[in-house]
This record gives sequence, structure tokens and C-alpha cells, in this order.
Amino acid sequence: QPLLAADDVTKSFGATQALTGASLQVFPGEVLALTGPSGSGKSTLLHCLSGILRPDGGRIGYDGRDLGALGDRERSALRRNAFGFVFQFGQLVPELTCLENVALPLRLSGVRRRRAEQSAGELLARLQVSDVAGKRPGQASGGQAQRVAVARALITTPRVIFADEPTGALDSRNGEQVIRLLVAAAKERGSAVVLVTHEDRIAACADRVVVFHDGANLDAAVTR
Ligand code: ADP
Ligand code: ADP
Repeated sequence: QPLLAADDVTKSFGATQALTGASLQVFPGEVLALTGPSGSGKSTLLHCLSGILRPDGGRIGYDGRDLGALGDRERSALRRNAFGFVFQFGQLVPELTCLENVALPLRLSGVRRRRAEQSAGELLARLQVSDVAGKRPGQASGGQAQRVAVARALITTPRVIFADEPTGALDSRNGEQVIRLLVAAAKERGSAVVLVTHEDRIAACADRVVVFHDGANLDAAVTR
């Protein structure tokens, strides 16, 4: 039983048909890379899968339920509780320390400060960035900041992490290291990962690669 399924999803922005019929499945705990040229619809499908965008046609299923049939409030609760997000630029809160940034999702769900910061500290150590725990994101390097963003996405142990070009702003060696740590930490927690990337080296870190072209995926499972 797939955790997430896109079935013949279409989406247009004005005259631009971003998705012409994309279908794929994400299984619990697997790391799936969406790859293909710029403009081929990868990000749009990621936004549909994560409930940020509503498709024009087709269906997105999460855990056997139709995402489109959920109300806005139910979908945002799902995003908060079951999904984690990593973006190209970390989007960390600049006024908070890295430790406080990672603890924030737990604090918002009512976990006491001490316990939240203890978990955050453990996750920062797992991602090999304990040294920036007490610093603000602006004092961390790009690679360190992305590891902090990965820790923040993982702290609630989501069912799925959505990562849209998370290494786009890093050099390829740093980027690959961040992805390897993301994949290892997600696997330890049983979180699935849906990773958008146009870099082959990054896609190679996934369990499966789906290639996009002109708004649709060519094949649902290129490698395993
Ligand atoms: P990729 O992630 O593969 O680079 P995208 O899904 O970002 O592709 O974009 C697919 C197409 O849809 C592109 O032509 C892009 O310009 C267009 N597009 C994506 N989002 C929007 C938007 N919000 N408004 C208008 N056009 C968009
Ligand atoms: P990516 O590199 O991940 O494809 P882009 O830089 O193309 O992302 O787009 C970043 C954001 O802008 C996305 O949320 C996307 O939906 C939106 N976007 C992309 N293309 C357009 C467009 N032509 N018009 C308006 N918004 C767009």
C-alpha cells in the first residue's frame, strides 16, 4: 500500500500546462528522487503531493484517502503533523539560534522547552552540526544551514519529507554530503523522502528515480 499516490495529475498556470498527466507512488520509508530538466513539472508535482497546490485533474491519495476531498483545515493539519519540508534556501528564523530553530516545531506542538531542545541537540549531532547549535543561522555556512533545515524537518518524525532542490545553493560535494545525511537520518526514523533535483549525483542517493519531461514522468520506476 503506497503512502502517497499521484494518479494522472494535471495542472496549468494560465496558458502554461505544468503537468500533463503525472502518475507515481511513494512507499513508506523510501527515498524517491524526481528529476528531469528545468520546467518539466517536478516542483509542481511536489506541491500537489504535499497539498500546497490543488491539481486541476487527477487525484492525489495519502494513506488511502483522497487529498482533494479534505478541507483546507484538514490539509494544513496533515502538512503540520505528517509532512516535513526542506527548501532550497533553509528558511530558518534568523533571530533564533540553530538549536531553537530545530526545536521550534516541537515547541509549537506543545513540547516543553527542555525536552524539545534535548531532541534538537541530538538531531544536530546526528547531522554533524553540533558546533552551530548556539549560533544564529546567519553565522553558519550554507551547508551547515541546510543540515539545520534538515534537522528541523525531521524533528517531528514526519511520514514524508518533501525537499525541493535542497542542495541547489551548495557546491556539489557539500550538496551530496547533506543529502547522504538527510537520507540516513530519514531512514533511521522511517520517514519517506520526496526529493526534487536536477543533479544526477544527488538523484543517485535515492532508492528510486522518476524522470520528468514536459509535465509528465516517463517511467514510474527507473531504478530500485
Ligand atoms: P521544475 O520543477 O521541473 O523546474 P516547475 O514545476 O517549477 O518545473 O514548472 C513547470 C512549468 O510551470 C514551468 O513552465 C513553470 O514556469 C510553470 N510554473 C510553475 N509554477 C508556476 C506558477 N506559480 N505560475 C505560473 N507558472 C508556473
Ligand atoms: P524550481 O527551481 O524548484 O523549479 P522555480 O524557481 O521555478 O522553482 O519557482 C519557484 C517558485 O515560483 C515555485 O513556487 C513556483 O511554483 C513558482 N513559479 C515558477 N515559475 C513561475 C512563473 N512562471 N510564474 C510564477 N511563479 C512561478
